[in-house]
Amino acid sequence: MKRLATSSWPQVARQSDAGDILLIPLGSTEQHGPHLPVTTDTDIAVAVAEGAARRLGRLVVAPPVAYASSGEHQEFAGTLSIGQEVTELLLVELGRSASGAFTHLIVVSAHGGNSVPLDRAMTRLHGEGRSVVAWSPNWKGDLHAGRTETSLMLAIAPDRVGPEQAEAGDLRPLATLLPLLQRHGVRSVSANGVLGDPAGANADEGRGLLAAAVDDLVRTAERLRSIPTVEVRQ
Ligand SMILES: [Zn+2]
Repeated sequence: MKRLATSSWPQVARQSDAGDILLIPLGSTEQHGPHLPVTTDTDIAVAVAEGAARRLGRLVVAPPVAYASSGEHQEFAGTLSIGQEVTELLLVELGRSASGAFTHLIVVSAHGGNSVPLDRAMTRLHGEGRSVVAWSPNWKGDLHAGRTETSLMLAIAPDRVGPEQAEAGDLRPLATLLPLLQRHGVRSVSANGVLGDPAGANADEGRGLLAAAVDDLVRTAERLRSIPTVEVRQ
């Protein structure tokens, strides 16, 4: 598997000459309940990106972006947020910089809270003619630190999950919770920081979710390879 973390610049130059695609995992550093580490989103983004890079030799995994937009979790210890504006700017600058060497870039995002700055960054980069795609997993589970993310972490890093600390949080659907979260933060609806219920989480389910996400990211990368190169304006 190709990783920037283990590559020298001449190796990277050869990869970009060969038309390889750069994957930038985008996570967060934010509370994930009493039973999951604050790096959960970053760990998941890296696991999906690395899973895809193991399958498709033309994918190169960059070091992850571990700090992003997590303002709604600010009232919990361990949350380190850089806010929407800085996240947007960070992604725009990374996209510009990456496209100096790589024709195609995929941002592998595993934190829903980044969707607004991510969309805005994509719009700006597309306006400059850059081939950048924002990819996010389509888990159909609970919202935050519930069964879905707990199963994923049991598959990725079981030694960093504390099942005995796991407890249910607010179980209402996103449509009900979103305006409350945006106005008052997660703490106003869930004292333990969980939105969902980790009960029943297991590593098998996590491996299944991960495999489906990897499949989807591989398909996205294959589609991207078939897009003709466009001239970067600017
Ligand atoms: Zn998360």
